[in-house]
Amino acid sequence: MSAVIDTDIAIIGGGSAGISLARHLSALSTPPSTLVIEPKTPSERDCSWALWSTAENAKPYASSIKGSWSQWQLVDNHGAIVHSATNYQYLSLSAADYLSQCEAQLASPVSLRRESVNSIQACGNGGKVTTDQGTFNAKYIYDSRPPKQSSNDLRQHFLGWEIICEQPIPRPDIATLMDFRVDQSQGLHFMYVLPFSARHLLVESTLVSSQLLDKNWYRNAISQWLSTQDIVVEQQLREEYGVISLEPKSSEQGRIGAAGGAVRRSSGYGFTAIQQQSRQLAQGIERGQYSVPRPFAKFLNPMDAIFNGVLTRHPELAVDLFMGTARALNADQFARFMLGEAGAAIWAKVIAAMPKIPFLKQLLLASSPVRGSDD
Ligand SMILES: Cc1cc2nc3c(=O)[nH]c(=O)nc-3n(C[C@H](O)[C@H](O)[C@H](O)COP(=O)(O)OP(=O)(O)OC[C@H]3O[C@@H](n4cnc5c(N)ncnc54)[C@H](O)[C@@H]3O)c2cc1C
Repeated sequence: MSAVIDTDIAIIGGGSAGISLARHLSALSTPPSTLVIEPKTPSERDCSWALWSTAENAKPYASSIKGSWSQWQLVDNHGAIVHSATNYQYLSLSAADYLSQCEAQLASPVSLRRESVNSIQACGNGGKVTTDQGTFNAKYIYDSRPPKQSSNDLRQHFLGWEIICEQPIPRPDIATLMDFRVDQSQGLHFMYVLPFSARHLLVESTLVSSQLLDKNWYRNAISQWLSTQDIVVEQQLREEYGVISLEPKSSEQGRIGAAGGAVRRSSGYGFTAIQQQSRQLAQGIERGQYSVPRPFAKFLNPMDAIFNGVLTRHPELAVDLFMGTARALNADQFARFMLGEAGAAIWAKVIAAMPKIPFLKQLLLASSPVRGSDD
């Protein structure tokens, strides 16, 4: 039996949140002793992480960027809404590259152990962490392990192919965030298409619903969409599958990242909020404040819950809700809205574009004593 190791901080899970927190702690003038416990290598966790960013804010991610677009579009049967941004770019990062880069930046007394946590015996803000290889006593524990999802959760689930196509596509400069011209029988469904070049694309079939489907369903949807676009696959490079819960996360002490509620419930985007939370937490720790910062403004979760409530109760309105939001805003406003950074003026435009009766009914339901605690 190996000796118990004492550490100031144990970070459970070295994904987007855990490894970013560790990297920021490593950069402090007097870093606390920190162990990141993560069983998988970066390449075992590769996927695409996309975000909106200004040129300035994108600098830390420069070496992980696979694609960037200042134009993006949402498409339905009536046509496309194309946004051309001035201040923001839509970026796609290689998760494996980003995680590797962060791991390489860790320096003593911050280190990573390729181990899996079996149990945590909590004691105050810290406790005893037992892995498959040892035991650690930590004064503070930050846990980013994904929380269990229930089969009733509203979820965003997707399967994507990264492909090389035979012929160049006409507009590789436009990212397609949502193309709703696909089968809507299983829930809100759209195709997400990132052209890394004219012949190199990520094409993802994305559903918003509780019910996960057989993977062949998404594969068929991609094949059908490619065929309607006259895109012939020359080579399939990789397949990516993911499930993101859009339900509220418990505000359990010490939870960070998606487990700490840093994924936006109306969109499934979390990368930027997670990065902010990690940076602010490290800054707090430097000042002796160890509590996890709230990832979004307080009003955002209830607003997103109302949006999701309307989406669930009125699936027939779902496409129009997203198209209406895109139509109401210009590109930079849309980016700020998606980032959770919209001010009152942007919110007013979005609210004005929404159908009033379903939202008012949902608001009443949410504020009733039985169902009101969404935050
Ligand atoms: C496939 C996918 C694609 C996504 N794409 C985007 C996107 O494009 N843009 C966006 O904004 N958001 C995206 N998200 C949402 C969100 O940004 C990501 O889920 C993000 O990775 C969450 O970061 P995290 O650190 O909270 O969790 P994770 O990155 O999932 O990290 C949790 C870590 O815990 C580790 N772990 C699990 N069990 C143990 C254990 N027992 N012991 C130790 N470690 C353990 C895991 O290996 C993992 O590395 C995506 C989510 C998924 C699933």
